[in-house]
Amino acid sequence: MQREKLEFDVLFVGAGPANLSGALHLSRLITSHNDRVTRGESPGNTLGEIEIAVIEKGATVGAHILSGAVMDPKGLRELIPDFIEQGAPLESLVNEDYFLYLTEKYALRSPITPPPLKNHGYYIVSLNRLTAWLGEKCEEAGVNIFPEFPGAEMLYDENDQVIGVRTGDKGINREGKRKPNFEPGVDLHAKVTVLGEGPRGSLAKQLIQRLNLDDGREPQVYSVGVKELWELPDDRYPAGRVTHTLGFPSDARTYGGGWIYGMQNRILNIGYVTGLDYQDPLLDPHAEFQRYKQHPFVAKLLDGGKMIRYGAKTIVAGGYFAMPKLYAAGALLVGDCAGFLNSQRLKGIHAAIKSGMLAAEAIFEALLAHEFSAERLQRYEELINESWIIPELRKVRNFHAAFQRGRWLGLANAGLQFMTGGRSWGIFDRAKAEPGHKEMKRLSAFGYRGDNPEQRYNGLRFDGKLTFNKVTDVFHAAVGHDEDQPAHLHVLDTNICSTRCAEEFGNPCQHFCPAAVYEMVDGGNGARRLQINFSNCVHCKTCDIMDPYQIINWVTPEGGGGPDYKGM
Ligand code: SF4
Repeated sequence: MQREKLEFDVLFVGAGPANLSGALHLSRLITSHNDRVTRGESPGNTLGEIEIAVIEKGATVGAHILSGAVMDPKGLRELIPDFIEQGAPLESLVNEDYFLYLTEKYALRSPITPPPLKNHGYYIVSLNRLTAWLGEKCEEAGVNIFPEFPGAEMLYDENDQVIGVRTGDKGINREGKRKPNFEPGVDLHAKVTVLGEGPRGSLAKQLIQRLNLDDGREPQVYSVGVKELWELPDDRYPAGRVTHTLGFPSDARTYGGGWIYGMQNRILNIGYVTGLDYQDPLLDPHAEFQRYKQHPFVAKLLDGGKMIRYGAKTIVAGGYFAMPKLYAAGALLVGDCAGFLNSQRLKGIHAAIKSGMLAAEAIFEALLAHEFSAERLQRYEELINESWIIPELRKVRNFHAAFQRGRWLGLANAGLQFMTGGRSWGIFDRAKAEPGHKEMKRLSAFGYRGDNPEQRYNGLRFDGKLTFNKVTDVFHAAVGHDEDQPAHLHVLDTNICSTRCAEEFGNPCQHFCPAAVYEMVDGGNGARRLQINFSNCVHCKTCDIMDPYQIINWVTPEGGGGPDYKGM
């Protein structure tokens, strides 16, 4: 097959905050260098026209971007010091902080807000809007942005140097045959390819495995956040108020917590995080969130309101010890793709922006030197190590690991870490942790029979007012995929689904997917088979992470498919 080939100097894969910041910063560094050389203020030559491109699998910049989010403005301030004057879309400055412990009936307010959850001076944002705004800044600076271009495959030369990315084919039907609108993917060649695909990036996964970038590092662990936006009938929850909760509905063995943020125009932003290292195979992060809303404190807040938007996304939680090597010949990893999120503070936007900027600085030096080897691009890791990102992550390096011993030990360690600067003297070291899916126990360990979720969620009903089933919620994520294309969820051995997995774990994909993509249906002759409703997929990546047999491979669907997280 003849494929078109396009040449760029630098290719950013994924239009998220890290990559857009990187592209913008790089463009400015080059312009400023060229101007200084032209004016005779700097020695050497100009870099000339450097082609910078950003490709994005979503239909628009920001369409697939989902976060809480309260942003520490530190990173954005370094990128665009006058971001307020320039009209950055900020919902509200945080002016009230609450931390609550929820029992089944009561909400107990902590007399102090734990320091990592103090958010005064930070901003509640819609990351979708902020990202779209950063995209505009990039375009004004001359960066080429190509939405609906999913990166499907890494391209390497004969020495394993990354030379670019192949985008996905368009116009393939569900049987894998070409449709009249068939267009082969394009080979995008670049001197440096920057992967900023968010948590569990599909290309980053290929690259890390092929080049063993995680050698000697701890396995990455994740959480999943499930979120809704609600329109409230009155001003009961003002913009700028931030509440974090612990306790109900998570059991004490499961890492979890809720957030409630007040946005403008009486919009309430509410969500629940579940650690993807849980033990109960029937646990369902979407159901945990629905139960969260049934808590009397939360239900009262939502009473008379209307749910208007839904989304779900994984969160990197492994922190300092789980970060892969950040560079390879011709390639860099930035943002959540590299694991820069501070899971104790629930914050990663600031570090994502900073990592993009540092990638830009390393690439700028490489462009001046005309060299893109691993040795040259190692400069990026040096810059990261010298920046404020690493001290921040080191202070919380054992935070998530301690929660694998249960909520109370996790909390005790979180408090201790605060005083010890992150040391845990071997008690909670990440070195003891396994990948999250290995924590899942068999049905028999919980006394369950089969996959009936009633065994865990007895009495949870979806009333369409306060609680919603997955299909209704997915409708509010505005998900769209052309249904006549091959499923982008590759299950490598479906025999396991109806045999071993059914017996051992009760097909947990039906539960952990927050979008009802996986369904065990009647396969005839009394057997059950897996049906994949891929068009529901909100691209959260939970299945790729949490499948106990690691046989689900999430790949990019046709460009433009997926959720549309406008305003989320
Ligand atoms: Fe998330 Fe996988 Fe479900 Fe898609 S199929 S919504 S990636 S869990």
